[in-house]
Amino acid sequence: MDRNLYRGEAINSLIDAAYRGRISRRTFFRGLASLGIATATAYDMAEHATFAHANQSAQNANLKGEYDYIVVGAGAAGCLMAHRLSQGGRASVLVIEGGGTNIEQEKISGPLGWPTNIGSDTDWCHKTVPMAHLGNRVIPVPVGKVIGGGSSINAMMWLRGDKADFDEWEAKAGPNWGFDAIAGRFKKLERYAGGEGQYRGGSGPIPTQTTALSHPVTRAVIEASKEQGIPEKSNINGSASMLGASQTDHNIENGRRVSAAHCFLMPALSRSSLTLLTDTPVWRLDIANGTCRGVFATVGGQERRIAAAKEVVLCAGAIHSPKILMLSGVGPAEHLRKLGIPVIVDRPEIGANLQDHVLTRIYFRSKTKMPAFEGTGVSGTTYLKTSASLPGPDIQILGRQNVFGSADIKFDEGYAIMPGLMKAKSRGSVRLTGTDPDSPLLVDPNYLAEQADIDTYVAGMQLGIEIGNARAFSDIRSEQFSLRGANKADIADFVRKTFVTYFHYAGTCAMGKESTAPVDEALRVRGVDRLRVVDASVMPTLPCSNTHAPVLAIADIAADLILASSPA
Ligand SMILES: Cc1cc2nc3c(=O)[nH]c(=O)nc-3n(C[C@H](O)[C@H](O)[C@H](O)COP(=O)(O)OP(=O)(O)OC[C@H]3O[C@@H](n4cnc5c(N)ncnc54)[C@H](O)[C@@H]3O)c2cc1C
Repeated sequence: MDRNLYRGEAINSLIDAAYRGRISRRTFFRGLASLGIATATAYDMAEHATFAHANQSAQNANLKGEYDYIVVGAGAAGCLMAHRLSQGGRASVLVIEGGGTNIEQEKISGPLGWPTNIGSDTDWCHKTVPMAHLGNRVIPVPVGKVIGGGSSINAMMWLRGDKADFDEWEAKAGPNWGFDAIAGRFKKLERYAGGEGQYRGGSGPIPTQTTALSHPVTRAVIEASKEQGIPEKSNINGSASMLGASQTDHNIENGRRVSAAHCFLMPALSRSSLTLLTDTPVWRLDIANGTCRGVFATVGGQERRIAAAKEVVLCAGAIHSPKILMLSGVGPAEHLRKLGIPVIVDRPEIGANLQDHVLTRIYFRSKTKMPAFEGTGVSGTTYLKTSASLPGPDIQILGRQNVFGSADIKFDEGYAIMPGLMKAKSRGSVRLTGTDPDSPLLVDPNYLAEQADIDTYVAGMQLGIEIGNARAFSDIRSEQFSLRGANKADIADFVRKTFVTYFHYAGTCAMGKESTAPVDEALRVRGVDRLRVVDASVMPTLPCSNTHAPVLAIADIAADLILASSPA
């Protein structure tokens, strides 16, 4: 394994321990120096961490009854929102996070441990309802429960999305959300190791890099795609279209996971304008006379009301933002009444329109043991359209440098090709089972319910099989293991039985110009003043990419809208 990843993990552990006040300034400084961080940089980092910890201890000890803004959830969007709203000290901001600050643990600090967060203390541990059309399968729905949210436990793939995705958003919600707007934010937010370009940022807060081309699976995925007539591209996020075969990008720097908590929240913790409350779930909003006046949260075991003088910004993610709204009486009236929740605003679309991407692993045995994996083990990727008439890609195919998730083949005795369905038509929902905030949720992604999704996905899987069997893999491949000799019906059956979530839940509080959209073009909740949703819930449709970068772009645009609506 890449030694740099061990170093990155060690640096992250030190940083996170210092911000939590678990190690002294001296220990932090010495630790950084021993890992090769320049003395002046290490000194500045130690100073900031010490001051930030002292500041937050004081802010928490003197919790106020009212803040200008309350941000619910310090996930990907919430961290960026916390930074933007508290910048310049012009407003007081309270960020309330249901999870903890414990990002120094190995499963988060190192880029390789991300799958071990699933089902752990850093996951809200939801699962789907039994999906009747999939033989009653139930699969986990991991959601980050820690500062950084999904950005602290995700697989760090950094992809923007295709122009066609944001043309869809613009058609639904106006020019704030079109390709130019999103691409501009993407560029502003990243600091790409490959340098600035028309669509790539060179000086933003999030360091990003392209995986090395050295692993044989990476090169083979690209060459095999070319055999299928798919062109190679050198920079996956470097053009308006995502179509083509290339290496993948990650938000990793010097072997370190660099999450939204690192880039946005931690640098802001030294500000007197920002208070971060952690391990503090918000379960309900305080809404009266059509206005959101604050939140109810469990602070130190006691339910407490905290007021927001300007706005409450819900950044609790696509599963929990609709949950909090519904528990507060904003949602489908019939559903709320059945549970005995007083209806404040009847919005049937809240919690509806749930979308996700799915992935399926096709395994191949290798001739010899696979070389040590690089990066996170996922490398080459191909974006393609299953029909020439589509405006953008609907399938993504990923190469996996080893075997992950199989009981039949050992980790280093093969590789996998993983097609993903990226523009599904099926829509699901998130619903409550009770008024107790701890009651389990009914998460029904309704995966592959539409026949069109099965047809598209089978076509993508067939291409995945061809890529895995291509000449480009002949030096590595011994034999195809999954789906040998399978026809379309066999593939459809395999997919239904074995697909996994790609973890990209979205759409449950979709933005739109139409009055039926639960949030408007400025992400304000229709029917409730001084309340916005800013997270993956507002995506009207999923982009063909992973969702971290698009969520950050949404949050950055939303911060401008919020600040513009309330000038200092
Ligand atoms: C395992 C996994 C792997 C992934 N891999 C990738 C990847 O490689 N690349 C990529 O681009 N995307 C990936 N994603 C998706 C990406 O991380 C998410 O789309 C993104 O984090 C969503 O951001 P968000 O702000 O909408 O919500 P989140 O990041 O989920 O943040 C929501 C925050 O709200 C907090 N919260 C929830 N309820 C409450 C409450 N009641 N009170 C207070 N706080 C609350 C949560 O604890 C969390 O911190 C992955 C996700 C997961 C789970």
